[in-house]
Amino acid sequence: MRKIVVFTGAGMSAESGIKTFRDSDGLWENHPVEDVATPQAWARNPRLVLDFYNARRKQMREVEPNKGHAALVELEKCFNVQIITQNVDNLHERAGSSSVLHLHGELDKVRSTRNPKLIFTPEHWEIKLGDVGEDGAQLRPHIVWFGEQVPMFDVAIDITQTADIMIVVGTSLVVYPAASLIEYVPANAPIFLIDPKAEPQSRRNIEIIRGTAAEELPEFVKKLISNEITSKNA
Ligand code: NAD
Repeated sequence: MRKIVVFTGAGMSAESGIKTFRDSDGLWENHPVEDVATPQAWARNPRLVLDFYNARRKQMREVEPNKGHAALVELEKCFNVQIITQNVDNLHERAGSSSVLHLHGELDKVRSTRNPKLIFTPEHWEIKLGDVGEDGAQLRPHIVWFGEQVPMFDVAIDITQTADIMIVVGTSLVVYPAASLIEYVPANAPIFLIDPKAEPQSRRNIEIIRGTAAEELPEFVKKLISNEITSKNA
């Protein structure tokens, strides 16, 4: 089976009702990211950071995967599909995708502030100051904050280097190191970028499809399955 690597960003979940922050004047649900998604923010005001991610976790449980997520599940009938996502929501998994790598962590997991390997999935969406793991240390969101290492990046590179086709959906390609992933796509593998605001990329020859995930992906997946795209581009 040919391998399709799908690299998704915040725009993938926009039509499910989860806002991107680059489309909201650099604010993420009304907060500057420096106040809620950095190690400095956590040191300064852990309560605000916990509350922010509590709200994100609660919202995630209230929304549903969209037609774009569903189309990627459909693609598995004919291709080996590996999703690499910058999203911290679980909408790919809930739609039914079987291989999802989270580069920036997962909202529905928390971990010990003392031991990063002590990770678990809480039943309730709310984590408070004073909630501790089995090692007695305060719990924090299992999220890669801005300025932190991206531990899964090497795994993402390995996956990307074996792609026959790469599809990038709903990402501005400005958050590094994630955005540099496309440089690891083999030279003979076509890359497609689905995003309503996609800009031409100088780094690689990328075919741009200007539109939203839920509108464009179902049609695009149909074309891939009927071989219209692979035969033309690969
Ligand atoms: P980003 O830089 O990847 O930008 C979002 C992109 O989505 C933009 O290019 C925009 O044009 C595009 N977009 C908007 N609506 C779309 C649609 N309906 N279909 C397809 N594309 C669409 O992402 P960001 O918002 O700047 O977030 C950066 C980081 O913050 C993410 O990598 C993630 O770690 C975190 N974040 C996660 C979520 C989530 O998990 N759902 C949401 C917001 C932010």
